[in-house]
Amino acid sequence: MGENKEWTRREFINLFGKGTGLVMGASLFGIPGFNKVFAQAVAEVPVLWLQAGCCTGCSVSVLNSKSPEIQDVLLGEVVPGKHLSMLWHPNVSATQGHDAVKIIQDLKKKPKGSFVLVIEGAISTKDDGIYCEVGEEDGHGITSLQHLKELAPKAMAIISMGTCAAFGGIPAADPNPTGSKPVDQVLEEEGIDTPIINISGCPPHPDWFIGTVATVLIGGLEAIKVDEHKRPVAFYGKIIHDNCPRRGQFDQGNFAKDFGDDGCLYALGCKGPVTHSDCPNRKWNSGVNWPIGSGHPCIGCTEPKFPWGKDMYQQVDVHFATAPSTYPGIINQKDSTYDPLVTGLVGAAAGAAGAAMVMKKKKEQKESGEA
Ligand code: SF4
Ligand code: SF4
Repeated sequence: MGENKEWTRREFINLFGKGTGLVMGASLFGIPGFNKVFAQAVAEVPVLWLQAGCCTGCSVSVLNSKSPEIQDVLLGEVVPGKHLSMLWHPNVSATQGHDAVKIIQDLKKKPKGSFVLVIEGAISTKDDGIYCEVGEEDGHGITSLQHLKELAPKAMAIISMGTCAAFGGIPAADPNPTGSKPVDQVLEEEGIDTPIINISGCPPHPDWFIGTVATVLIGGLEAIKVDEHKRPVAFYGKIIHDNCPRRGQFDQGNFAKDFGDDGCLYALGCKGPVTHSDCPNRKWNSGVNWPIGSGHPCIGCTEPKFPWGKDMYQQVDVHFATAPSTYPGIINQKDSTYDPLVTGLVGAAAGAAGAAMVMKKKKEQKESGEA
């Protein structure tokens, strides 16, 4: 691809919609010509961002966007004259208190399709949702549940931002005393059919949010292909394990036994074999590194059962032992009688054995009084 490649709107949508390695492996906005297409196609779209049961980490992640810088997205330097119009964001907007509540309440009177609604956090539903209130009116708190039920029918689309909004996440962990639920579950129970996209992650990568929004603005909702969990396949279409630089170690049965060791992190509880995201290619903090790159297992933060499906360092079952799509395995597939599935399963078995050794070693250390 030459530096002067002129991307047409259709080319971009096709490319992005197919989730090719090009987009998967590079910052979306680093693609030559992308900014120009973006500038031609993006219209000003009002966005309301509400926080429900959350820690604000998803907002912090997006605000750390580097390519483009978040101020460029919001103020329009990337796309002169055209930009997202952030009606209100709890951390970014100067407007607070009653004036902020008025912005939200006024939107509820707008015609359907007037704005994009971003929800960060799970929705508390027990006892009419009183455990999460966002503002008050006439001396009464307004629950996030009430906001969602009144705003969602008026939105052109909803983005559930982060694993708590998408799947319940930490607020919905057992015993879930607040009755917290994912946004789409509440919508379904209320019979609200506004289109919804889940951008899962704890937190999600800034590119996953901004790239999704840009794609919708350019090509409409039909330009976004989602998986069975409503996640854009361009970002969540592949399993981490299949693109992991340590995959060769997994296939060879070389497992790290302690943090900081070389080798595959499966025996230390890596959830890469069952986790969908492009973290191995995209990396974090402007492509500097990512968890497995710094020696820590993936904890599976983009998946529906995070964080309670498995303990953080508990091993997962390997169901999808497919060939690495980016990195060559150590075993030469051409000359070997092993196929990728077999090597993957052998690796899984070796991982279980490795984990057993780790546990045995820890038990022995404990019994002998070692730290
Ligand atoms: S188990 Fe984790 S560290 Fe090992 S190859 Fe798979 S994703 Fe990489
Ligand atoms: S490596 Fe795993 S835990 Fe870390 S951000 Fe990516 S999906 Fe989440």
